[in-house]
Formats: sequence, C-alpha cells, structure tokens
Amino acid sequence: FGEPHEYTHDYPFCWRCSTPLLYYAKPSWFIKMSALRDELQAANAKINWYPEHIKHGRFGEWLDGVKDWAISRERYWGTPLPIWRCTNDKCKHQVVIESLVDLAQTSGQEQVASGDFDMHRPFIDEVSWSCKKCDDKGEMKRVPEVADCWFDSGSMPFAQWGYPHAKDSNSQLKEHYPADYISEAIDQTRGWFYTLLAVAALLKKAGAIKEIPPYKNVICLGHINDKHGQKMSKSKGNIVDPWEIMNKYGADALRLHFYIANQPGEPKNFDENDVDQVVKKTLLILMNVMIFYELYQDKAEASRIAPKSDNVLDKWVLALLQQTTNEVTDHLEHYEITEAGRKLADFVTELSTWYVRRSRDRFKSGGKDAGLARTTLGFVLRQVAILLAPFTPFVADEVYSRVRGGFESVHLEEWLKQNKLSVEDAQLLDDMTKARQEVEIALAQRAAVGLKVRQVLGSLTTTVAFDDDIKTIIADEVNVQEVRHGTETKLDTQMNDELKSLGLVREFTRQVNALRKELKLTIKDKVNLVVQVPDQLKSAIEKQLAEVKRAVIAESIEFSDQAQEHKIELNEIKISITLKK
Ligand SMILES: [Zn+2]
Ligand SMILES: [Zn+2]
Repeated sequence: FGEPHEYTHDYPFCWRCSTPLLYYAKPSWFIKMSALRDELQAANAKINWYPEHIKHGRFGEWLDGVKDWAISRERYWGTPLPIWRCTNDKCKHQVVIESLVDLAQTSGQEQVASGDFDMHRPFIDEVSWSCKKCDDKGEMKRVPEVADCWFDSGSMPFAQWGYPHAKDSNSQLKEHYPADYISEAIDQTRGWFYTLLAVAALLKKAGAIKEIPPYKNVICLGHINDKHGQKMSKSKGNIVDPWEIMNKYGADALRLHFYIANQPGEPKNFDENDVDQVVKKTLLILMNVMIFYELYQDKAEASRIAPKSDNVLDKWVLALLQQTTNEVTDHLEHYEITEAGRKLADFVTELSTWYVRRSRDRFKSGGKDAGLARTTLGFVLRQVAILLAPFTPFVADEVYSRVRGGFESVHLEEWLKQNKLSVEDAQLLDDMTKARQEVEIALAQRAAVGLKVRQVLGSLTTTVAFDDDIKTIIADEVNVQEVRHGTETKLDTQMNDELKSLGLVREFTRQVNALRKELKLTIKDKVNLVVQVPDQLKSAIEKQLAEVKRAVIAESIEFSDQAQEHKIELNEIKISITLKK
C-alpha cells in the first residue's frame, strides 16, 4: 500500500542445494480445524502429558489458536486428495469421494473396487467420468494435489487397520484404540501429537469413531544439544554420529544414559563421557557380577522363586530387590522413567559393592552357605534382568540367558510383582543403611591415621546396637576383631603384637592370591604351598591355619628353611614360596 520501499529481511535456504527459498501465496486446500477448537481442547483435557506443563503450555496454546490446516501439497508422490472437479469452467461441480466403492459407483468403473487397484498416481488420475451436473459438457477429473504427509501420520491409528473399510478393521480398532502411550520430541506438538488428535477429531465429527483423544499418555522428549548446550548443526560441526556412539559403547549404554541423565522433557546436553560413565558405573559392574556368578555357578537354571536363606546378606539383598521392584514399578506406572532407571542403577551398585563384595568368602567357602549365596545371586540377577528389560533390552537378555532364566528371552517374561515389605525386611534395610554409615566413618578414621584396611584392629564402637550378624559384616568390612555399642562411632587404632601378626597373615594371603592370579590359577586349582617365613609369621599362620588354607585355596601349607621359588616382601619382611599344583 502506498509507495514501494526497500525492506531487508532473512529468508531460508534449501537444505540440499542452498538455493534461496521464497514464500509465494498460492491457492490451496484447507481443513477448517478452527471450527473444531472446542472439541480439540476438550480432548486435550483428557490426555496425561509428561512433562505436565506441555498440556496447557505448548500444546494447549497451539490448540487455543488452532489454525485451519493447509492440507494440500503440489507434489507427485503422496496420498491423492479424493476430490474430483468438473472441467467445464462454467460448472466447476466438485465431489469428495469417500471410498473405493463410492469411486467405483460414481465413476461406473467397477475395477476400482476390485481389490487390486493401485490408488496412487498416476492410476487414480485415470479415473474420470462425464459431469451429470452440466449435462456432460465437462469431465469430472481429480484435482492434482496430494495430501500433507502429516495427514498420513495422523491417520495412523485408523489407517493401519484399513479402518473403516477393511475386513476386521472394526474389531482391530476396538482392541487397540486409543493408544495407552506415545512418545516423541517436543517439536511434535505441532506435528504428530497434533495431527493424531486432528484426524481423530475429524473422524469423530463425521461419526466414524466415538472417542477422542486417540492416545492417553504422552512422554514429550526434550531435544539433544551438544555438551555445551548448543543446538547440533552441520555448519557448526558439532554433530554427534549416534552410530559411532552405539558402536563404541553399545546401544543400551546410550539408552540408559538418556533414561537416567535427566527428566525426559528436559533438553539433553550430550557428552560422550557421560555414556562412558554409564558403562563403567552400571553396565560393566553388572557384567562383572554376572561373571563372578558364572565362576561359581555355570550350569544350573536360576531360581524363579526367592530362596529361603538365614544369611543376613541374602535376606538384605532380597529385601532390597523387593523394595527396588516396588519403587521401579511405581515410577513406571507414573511415567517417571528417570527415577525408575536411577533406582535400578543404584541397585546394581549395591549388589556389586555390598552384597557380592561382602559375600565373596561365602562363595569360596563351599558347603551349604555357598550354595545359598549362589542361589540367591542367581535369583537376583534373573529378577534384575527382568527389571532392566525395558531400559537395556540387550544387556537384560544377555544376563537373563546366561543365568538361564527359563524362557527363550527375557522379553517373554511377566513383569515382577509388587509386594509390601515385611516389618523385619524394612528394619533390616534400615539397619544395613546405618551399618554402612558407621563403616564409612570408621574407614575415614582408619585413613586419617594411615592404617591400611588389611591391618586388623582391635575394635569399633558404633552408636547403634546392631544384631550379631550385622556386627560380623561390619567387623569384616572395617577389619576389626570386635564391634561394640557405645555413644560415638570410634575406631580403636591402638596397635599391639597380636594385631601386627594378624595383619601380616592377611598380607601374606593377599600376596599369595596375587601370585596365584599371576600364575593364572583358577578357584578350581588347589595347591600345595611350601613357604619360607620368619618364626613370628610362621606361628601366626599356624594359629589360623584352616582359615589361611581356605583363603589361598591350598590343600596343605608346609614350612621350610630353604629359599623357595617366588620371592615376596611383606611389610619389609622377606619371604619366599613355592606353589605346587
Ligand atoms: Zn534445493
Ligand atoms: Zn459440470
């Protein structure tokens, strides 16, 4: 209006050939979605959005100002618009065709409804008939446009069954509609999330379906940026190739990272190191527990029911597993993926750093208690595989098949049942948490005076009066002879000759086991040990002979005055030993 002016503005480029793109106003076909705004808003009120703010924020606002849908595209490939128009300029009569049967009847061309008609271009454009409206002066020809491909995406819940025309499509739709859950990224509020709802609203308006929305729950994902929070783009050169990451760390590592990094709706600043950490802190730890289990149990099927064990560590890990099952299930029911994933990762840590580590000697001991430990660990690994299945499907299947879970795949399993913890189990979890807090303080006190954990000490006083079996675990972990109850957590760091020689024996077994490892001996190789040691150490070893033999997996220990094959230094004492298989 008025004088033309020069006006500077940005314009987009073709992403393939960088040619400038200019907008032109062109006639096109629209669907009057603005007339359905109330229906769309009412349907949105029934959808559970995660994160919740999308409902009235990004999506709700889009619906409040809903635009008419520019449905036509001037392309060749695509779903042809089902509109036929008279070629007579004075008539321009037009019809919208509802189905192939309708088209066959209207056009008089029966083969259209025969079942093997390809309803795409160019074939569909060959279907025409003379216009009755203007007494055959014009011909009814299809308009040239095809539909916006988002219309196809939005038609998915119906089109996948050929609803309403295909045989059985009615019962299929009844069974599968509406969807319980869908997930896509945040940009889809104007894309798929919207067009699913829009097509359903149109079909409801037409009386073809009764119910909208077509989905009940949505997890709306944040976008992935580079590690500095910058959008990834080719021109900036900060794009991460997902295949490279998956080939290097595994697809499950990437999955688990995204699950537990932050809430699904938050943007994710992608740093490869974080994936590496997930591997090291969770997946490798789980695999190491797996390998440890296989060392002692390589053929039996893992138990499907919780073993009955009197051992406090078994009882504890089973209680923790039940608690984790309960919490993970609750979180998943509420679409709290991050919390669920983190609980599982925490459990794997506990399993490795507390249950397995504190049970190592039990596994080695042989006998009934070793059997209980093996059965318990097998059962726990099997259950963990089931809980991990939605998060890390490949790793879960690997664990499940290696413990011989039963089915061909973990993905054929039923989800685990929630069971309220018994009062005793809840108490045990609480006690163990407190025990570990005491342990942490005690180990810090040890470190403060520079005494290695290998050196056994006299006693630890704890502020909680623990049961005897928990006291034993604390004593083992802190390496003290006695745990007693008092007013403050205090490690007795006084040394005496007896403690020193006990510490020496501990160092002796550690070094022998290091040597066993060097010689590639396995737990199945029992050895006969010949040792040349000073008298002080000799009498110390003799005092705990059975224990030392078990610890170094020896059939016999023989003392000798002669120098032996392997020279070792124990806290500045020189000894030598020979291992005979
Ligand atoms: Zn181009
Ligand atoms: Zn006509």
